[in-house]
Amino acid sequence: QAKREGGDRLGFYSRASHEQVRETLALERALRQALGRNELRLHYQGQFDAVSGALVGAEALLRWQHPELGLVSPARFIPIAESSGLIRPIGLWVMNEALRQVAAWRDAGLPVVPVAVNLSLAQFRDPDLRDHVIAALRASGLSATMLELELTESIAMEDSEHTIATVDSLKRLGVQLAIDDFGTGYSSLSYLKRLSVDRLKIDQSFVRGLRYDPDDEAIVRSVIGLARSLGLQTLAEGVETEEQLSFLRDEGCQQIQGYLKARPMPPEAFAQQVLLAASPPIVS
Ligand code: C2E
Ligand code: MG
Ligand code: MG
Ligand code: MG
Repeated sequence: QAKREGGDRLGFYSRASHEQVRETLALERALRQALGRNELRLHYQGQFDAVSGALVGAEALLRWQHPELGLVSPARFIPIAESSGLIRPIGLWVMNEALRQVAAWRDAGLPVVPVAVNLSLAQFRDPDLRDHVIAALRASGLSATMLELELTESIAMEDSEHTIATVDSLKRLGVQLAIDDFGTGYSSLSYLKRLSVDRLKIDQSFVRGLRYDPDDEAIVRSVIGLARSLGLQTLAEGVETEEQLSFLRDEGCQQIQGYLKARPMPPEAFAQQVLLAASPPIVS
């Protein structure tokens, strides 16, 4: 069709995008079966106090192990899950599985830390989200403070009145709320002030430039200052070097997550390498 209309040049691009559409449809078909076929997994990445180094939480990160394609990156399949509507059942599975896992670690006598799960826009807009959270907490027997919900800055900034109401209703349950990838969107300060979130996760694209890009340093410094003046916690994502950590610590960022301290890992490895290594909580 494109060839008929625009000749070879157009035909070339059209064939390339045709391939992409075909691949996306094939992935979507496979993803539709992934839950039932038990191909989805959660990996866990530790979150640490920037000063003491103590483990303060974990983020659950979705992995898809396809029998033929191998490990498919979330960057590839989450957008497909979102556009096909599959993200709702998948996201529900993620929340339940993460809480089930933390409860299993607790039952095994391992330290209990809050677990963060990522929410997509469709989940956030789902009128049943609150009921899903209540049911997942009840099934795990964990207190609401053990669950953190991460919204990206772009989700958080959309449709403000509805977002404020939804965040409030989740907050009233006692769960923690974080804004993920902070700094990549266009938050208005007055709006941020009305959102009852607990912490800002500084996007890794800014952390990457610490100690050699003055612009990134200025952005990180101002996000930390902003969070402090709004009474929010800050967690820096993608911390890979001691130099980045020392900058963040000096500027007063409270928590860090990144390869420097721990990579995302399967639950067994997380239990062995992160939970067992965590010092028991100090009771005073
Ligand atoms: P995110 O929520 O911002 O997660 C952080 C990403 O940074 C993860 O990528 C993690 O593996 C990676 N990361 C952590 N530390 C470092 C580091 O030191 N250096 C570098 N270069 N990267 C680091 P991942 O696991 O590939 O996930 C990518 C994105 O996919 C996530 O970004 C999140 O937006 C989305 N995602 C993952 N799991 C879920 C899920 O269950 N539901 C939804 N809706 N989205 C998810
Ligand atoms: Mg996240
Ligand atoms: Mg992020
Ligand atoms: Mg992200």
